[in-house]
Amino acid sequence: MDNCLFCKIVRGEIPSSKVYEDDTVLAFRDIEPQAPVHVLLIPKEHFDSILEVDEKTFAHMKTVVKKLAVDLGIAENGFRVVINTGRDGQQSVKHLHFHILGGRSMQWPPG
Ligand code: AMP
Repeated sequence: MDNCLFCKIVRGEIPSSKVYEDDTVLAFRDIEPQAPVHVLLIPKEHFDSILEVDEKTFAHMKTVVKKLAVDLGIAENGFRVVINTGRDGQQSVKHLHFHILGGRSMQWPPG
């Protein structure tokens, strides 16, 4: 996807603060963090949203969430995973991404 922001990050055309990478996924710090820990986890392959991603990639992302939570020190106290989807979900970047948020207590529902 030539004009996709997160595809450009995967290709290294836009810099990112990378925290994890393997053949399938990339994780990097959100540029406008909403919590002390705010990491975006994306598949390297382009999927518009959770509605398109295949089960194998999604399952791998779940495995990586656990690894990141442990490595980032937020597993013990807990964290939030957010997958904004579509217009009403206010998804601004049309490349599937998990927001992984932690490091403080976060009210629910969000504002
Ligand atoms: P969403 O609104 O769920 O689509 O989330 C998109 C997220 O991408 C927002 O939290 C932005 O702060 C974040 N973001 C946008 N551009 C960048 C970038 N270049 N590097 C890191 N995060 C970004």
